[in-house]
Amino acid sequence: MPIPEACTGCGTCCFSESPRHARVTGDDHERLGEDADRLVTWIGNEAFMRLAPAGEDLHKCIALEIDPARGAFLCAIYERRPQICRDLERGSPACGGELATKGERPKRALALLR
Ligand code: SF4
Ligand code: SF4
Repeated sequence: MPIPEACTGCGTCCFSESPRHARVTGDDHERLGEDADRLVTWIGNEAFMRLAPAGEDLHKCIALEIDPARGAFLCAIYERRPQICRDLERGSPACGGELATKGERPKRALALLR
């Protein structure tokens, strides 16, 4: 799958069925401030971004906002997103892996919203 020109037109790495999809470190949690309780879930003593349903069997990060009119995928906490999200660079091998394994999910989610 080709690398998208912008992450806002992709959103693939913000889709997952794993409750451990995006680790939230202590610094990440602090940055989220009063929103942390709403956005973060705990598994034992580890924190992760919560998942939210995205239609049918799809799940996405709770912070991912989908704009079906524009076909856009936006992180509602972009400036305060966890370090693991900052580290995943568009066009990197990790990005390519996300696209190869989950690249059809955002398109399905969009189709369900339209
Ligand atoms: S990093 Fe890659 S998989 Fe994630 S939104 Fe950007 S282009 Fe898509
Ligand atoms: S915090 Fe933002 S960038 Fe990270 S997975 Fe959630 S929506 Fe995507």
